[in-house]
Amino acid sequence: MKILVINSGSSSLKYQLIDMDDESVKAKGLVERIGIEGTHFKHSVLGTDKGIEFTRNMKNHSEAISAVLEALTDKDNGAITSLDEIGACGHRVLHGGETFKESALVTPETLAEIEALVPLGPLHQKANIAGIRACQEVMPGKPNVAVFDTAFHQTMPPKAYLYGVPYEYYKTLKVRRYGFHGTSHRFIAGEAPKYIGKPADACKLIICHLGNGSSLSAVVNGKVVDTSMGLTPLEGLLMGSRSGDVDPAVLEYIMDNTGMDIHEMLNTLNKKSGFAGLSVSSDMRDVKAAAAAGDELAKETIAVWTYRVQKYIGAYNVAVGGADAIVFTAGIGENDTQAAEDVISGLAFLGVKIDPAKNVRGNAGVISTDDSTIKVLRLATNEELPIARDTLAIVNAL
Ligand code: AMP
Repeated sequence: MKILVINSGSSSLKYQLIDMDDESVKAKGLVERIGIEGTHFKHSVLGTDKGIEFTRNMKNHSEAISAVLEALTDKDNGAITSLDEIGACGHRVLHGGETFKESALVTPETLAEIEALVPLGPLHQKANIAGIRACQEVMPGKPNVAVFDTAFHQTMPPKAYLYGVPYEYYKTLKVRRYGFHGTSHRFIAGEAPKYIGKPADACKLIICHLGNGSSLSAVVNGKVVDTSMGLTPLEGLLMGSRSGDVDPAVLEYIMDNTGMDIHEMLNTLNKKSGFAGLSVSSDMRDVKAAAAAGDELAKETIAVWTYRVQKYIGAYNVAVGGADAIVFTAGIGENDTQAAEDVISGLAFLGVKIDPAKNVRGNAGVISTDDSTIKVLRLATNEELPIARDTLAIVNAL
């Protein structure tokens, strides 16, 4: 069966068509600037030189999905001959709250529950719902499955997910830590044990998903016991454009002194902070280039980022009770060998050591020395495959 995996953002839509017979990606693409002048569409068929790229305004996600389906079935540049070849659609959904501890078939009831969670992540959740509705509209009768970014973290105990605010806010508003990047953390928690030589249900892992958005998770025997993102993806590490942890009183102080309202303030913390706020751009490569050219603030930004990752690893080594492995993944984690070196150098006192001969870009697997007290791994994440796997399992069980 072929599964269409869809990841809708507020003005974008990423997709992959995955053949579940061998879990290979047949086609993938990206629609950007949906609802904005100059919508851009790019589609490619893997293993071929077939592709489609154009700019044409698209008002909403339905138009974008229609364009995707046209491209997939295009007789010269498509990947399938008929939409009947698509068995189901799997959707990345930001927030499952406490309602969804695993993926779910989209029914009128589940969609209503997903909609009820909009206040916990308005922008993304609405976009995810738009993607689901667009598929329902354009492919009536085709099963849709929702895969939640928060679900894998639902095993956290209350001591990890409760904030120290009046308990009534948890009871009435469900204010708590949820965590995100769940499909990535879950994929890595499944892969890492293969390199450790222990079964997944006997492994203690610290998973470092370090990309534009970044989060760490502490995983014991395949279950998350803590993670660095919170009610929203804003908490935790320094990220491309998100501040990560700040003293909440900073908000009042800045707002009082600038006249910003809470929406502008949160927008600043989400979109104009992190690398973008401290340095030249939200992209680590730009910050690294600036640092290499002698920019002192860029060097300090990298130091702030590195130190915060180290602090979280220290905390999560406690959370898991002594890790078997620290795993680096996502854009920075997979590609930036220096970042791994910098982070791990701060753990030398624990006897954790990177092997420079193994710490080579593109080298997946163990990158620590044989005598390192904790193994260090670099693994490529895959956020689409777990969505396709869950979709297949749910559809097969219908
Ligand atoms: P992601 O969100 O997982 O796509 O990761 C994006 C981040 O990975 C950006 O900050 C990129 O600068 C960073 N990244 C990608 N390739 C490299 C690289 N070779 N060296 C350093 N950072 C990289």
